[in-house]
Amino acid sequence: MVENYTIIKKIKQYAIDNNVPIMMDDGIKFLTNFIIKKQVTNVLEIGTAIGYSSIMMCMASQNVEVTTIERDEKRYLEAIKNVKELKLEDRITLIYNDALNVKLDDKYDLIFIDAAKAQNIKFFELFEKNLKPGGAIITDNLNFHGMVNKEESEIKSRNVRALVRKIKDYINYLKTNTKFETEFYEVGDGISVSIKK
Ligand code: SAM
Repeated sequence: MVENYTIIKKIKQYAIDNNVPIMMDDGIKFLTNFIIKKQVTNVLEIGTAIGYSSIMMCMASQNVEVTTIERDEKRYLEAIKNVKELKLEDRITLIYNDALNVKLDDKYDLIFIDAAKAQNIKFFELFEKNLKPGGAIITDNLNFHGMVNKEESEIKSRNVRALVRKIKDYINYLKTNTKFETEFYEVGDGISVSIKK
């Protein structure tokens, strides 16, 4: 266990050193508590990065298996290395592809969307069919580092303004989606939990 803790610390340091965005500590705590409370056994994650959140979800409960998708080769290879180091190869399935090109038949208790923020609606619509009845879709970074609550005129970069608009569209999409009941939480960088009715 001490060894696992050391490996996880090393993964987090790699993320800092290589500018890999990974979930914030209180976001991870929220996600793992959700997994324990709802007795989640299988998760689909969009956006593996280097495997940190997949690993933390598996460590939350012995019963959890994760399938996770990453399109960046370097990060995918690093994730393989990290998953092996923690001996979680049997419980974490890593897919190297653009999630928008992935078709899955399995059904999951939880779908965790943590990839390109401008594509959240597309990910939601593509994978909602893979959710079990009563299952949840959790999305991270809905505050986008505080940008979503700013006036547009305060945001200097045109690209960031466009991204913030997309995130606002997604929030609105969730609020008006009658097939799901969505709650928003001011945790980490802003998290939503959408439960399939
Ligand atoms: N969930 C990870 C964690 O907390 O450890 C962090 C994921 S990081 C915020 C987002 C990742 O999604 C990036 O590594 C990026 O390459 C990947 N990504 C973005 N768009 C994607 C897509 N369309 N298909 C697959 N991966 C994507």
